Amino acid sequence: MDELDTTVAHPARRYNYWLGGKDNFAADRESGDQLEALFPKVRLGALANRALLRRATTFLAGEAGIRQFLDIGTGLPTADNTHEVAQRIAPESRVVYVDNDPMVMVHARALLTSSDAGRTAYIEADLHDPASILADPVVGQTLDLTRPVGLMLIAVLHFVHGNGAAKPIVQELMAALPPGSFLVATHATSDFGTPEQQRLYQQLIEEGKSDVWTRPKDEFTDLFDGLELVEPGVTPASEWRPEPGAEIPARSDINIWTATARKP
Ligand code: SAH
Repeated sequence: MDELDTTVAHPARRYNYWLGGKDNFAADRESGDQLEALFPKVRLGALANRALLRRATTFLAGEAGIRQFLDIGTGLPTADNTHEVAQRIAPESRVVYVDNDPMVMVHARALLTSSDAGRTAYIEADLHDPASILADPVVGQTLDLTRPVGLMLIAVLHFVHGNGAAKPIVQELMAALPPGSFLVATHATSDFGTPEQQRLYQQLIEEGKSDVWTRPKDEFTDLFDGLELVEPGVTPASEWRPEPGAEIPARSDINIWTATARKP
């Protein structure tokens, strides 16, 4: 396991801070506050993202009949982790969690509370190296890659920096999964910001003060190239199959795109 460095902000711990958790350090809170100063509703965004994870997992395990999940960029355990949502619907569901933050490994036991009928496993690996994830023996032991898998890339692809850098990773992962598999992704975007916010955000990135590489709608949509988008297609996170009666926050408060698609 890598050294646990608490002096540098880490996405999992900052997200945990925004969600109101306790597994974070001063550097994470400082980074979280800095982003919150520019995007005052960032905590609402974190909650909306988490709610999307719940709805999309419910769709996969329910309507889509998916029983195997590969959840990369798991985050620190919180309410309604992927396996809990899936196993409430289908107790036999199997989930492999993947994250590159050693802090998540420390808490992995909380992710491994599988139903008796199902299974959960955790590996520490980096999304930048999809081959190492696919080749990990734990993946092969837990999931049957000849049967459909739900690939969850929830709020993680924006840590892959660079124009066009996310697509090859998504394609390599989806290529390893059989037809009938699904991809769910959420992604931070600057599309809904004012020109002034967009300019300030660009400055943060250039100064190395934000690790979140936002992408515009076109590039996000292109991640689903070759897949069949499930209704309602590419939408702001809160507008993808909202719970009946749910209040839909302003797009500019959430700043997250999402889509779910099926591999034909
Ligand atoms: N998917 C969860 C957590 C999102 S927070 C949810 O949506 O609620 C983003 C997570 O991605 C963090 O846990 C962070 O540690 C992880 N992460 C960031 N970069 C990563 C990378 N290159 N490889 C694997 N995980 C990464």
